[in-house]
Amino acid sequence: MSELNTVVIVGSSLAGLRAAETLRLEKYEGRIIIVGAENREPYDRPPLSKKVLAGEWEAERISLRKPEDLAKLNVDWKLGSAAAALDTKNRIITLVSGETISFDGLIIATGSGVRKLPNQPDWKGVHVVRTLDDSLNLRADLNPGARLVVIGAGFIGLEVAATAKARGCEVTVLEGALAPMMRGLGAEMGQAAALVHADNGVQLRCDVKVVGLVEGSPGAVGGVALDGGEIVPADVVVVGIGVVPATQWLENTELELRDGVVCDTTLNAGVPGMYAAGDICRWLNNLYDQEMRVEHWTTASEQGAAAASNLLAVSRGEQPKPYAAVPFFWSDQFTARIQFLGRANGDEIAHVVVGSPEERSFVALYEKDGYLKAALGVSRPKQLMPFRKLLAERATWEQALELVATFVAT
Ligand code: FAD
Repeated sequence: MSELNTVVIVGSSLAGLRAAETLRLEKYEGRIIIVGAENREPYDRPPLSKKVLAGEWEAERISLRKPEDLAKLNVDWKLGSAAAALDTKNRIITLVSGETISFDGLIIATGSGVRKLPNQPDWKGVHVVRTLDDSLNLRADLNPGARLVVIGAGFIGLEVAATAKARGCEVTVLEGALAPMMRGLGAEMGQAAALVHADNGVQLRCDVKVVGLVEGSPGAVGGVALDGGEIVPADVVVVGIGVVPATQWLENTELELRDGVVCDTTLNAGVPGMYAAGDICRWLNNLYDQEMRVEHWTTASEQGAAAASNLLAVSRGEQPKPYAAVPFFWSDQFTARIQFLGRANGDEIAHVVVGSPEERSFVALYEKDGYLKAALGVSRPKQLMPFRKLLAERATWEQALELVATFVAT
């Protein structure tokens, strides 16, 4: 790759910010331009379904960096102007405004956007949660006594359910799969980790098919229609059915798009000097010999740094390093802190090894072919975290049990 004078980072959130910080940390002195669709400086998303939605934190509290730290980065911010197209051959980005930006190095960090229902109406009371504005708009509707229906029992849907219940709403969650959080935790552990919802009076209904929303008063939602004719009454509906990677602006380029931007082990997107990081990145994780796309905070932060570091390394004639890591995420639902290490593909066997679902506090390990594949902790951070090292070392099931035995012995 030729000399690096201008690096453009598209996406002004966690992965993009970490990329810019890493470039400066590693002594890159050229120009950095950050393009962001949202007209806000980088902020943190996890509190949007937790403390911000609860009304315990205001917007200022979730800035990812203080203004003086952002100033030190010496970045040319282009906020409120989404990238519309990329010309990989001539290395030019075109913004929605028509402005064009040339670059030598590119970091793609446009994350993901919410998936909506087919023909989702734009009625009052219908919400999604991805941005700060989404969270504040929803919060304004979560008044005591309001009937909230959450469509989708994934992590964000269940966090919204818990927060709304604590605000005094009547909450029903509708899920099409057989169990909550099934994609992340598997059916059995998804059920076990979600017991806290029944304890707190959330109605969680799995294996139901939503066919559409029903209008109440004109222009406002009144319920959710299920297959079979039942209508679940609602004053407020949150559609929490997952996300789609924000790749629209990369269509018709030579980059390979397949549920994300396909990258090699070093996060390179297939063209010299172009890298991807965060929710948008589908890369080959050597640790699992598997291509994956991860929608978690820690991965976005680490990949932003790794992509920037590798971009610089190659421009300096050095070897880029593979990004191989144990995925990690957390989710807070009522008093339960759910933490997960590794990757469950649905064909592992989960064993509860510490505590129990009845105590609402346990560690479960996921086994496959004699190896430890993942570990789930519900309100057991101390006993969960040591498994991170084992997962990074591709430990056998026997080694995992040896570690468990030390907990029992102490
Ligand atoms: P994003 O944060 O999605 O940022 C991408 C940015 O790019 C956005 O600002 C977007 O506007 C911008 N953009 C998109 N398209 C364009 C374009 N064409 N041009 C310019 N800019 C563009 N993870 C956990 O591990 N634990 C949690 O508890 C947790 N809670 C969460 C709660 C909520 C409500 C949400 C929404 C997410 C949560 N996450 C959690 C996930 C975590 O926040 C994401 O994994 C992380 O934000 C991904 O960072 P990112 O920078 O890759 O993408």
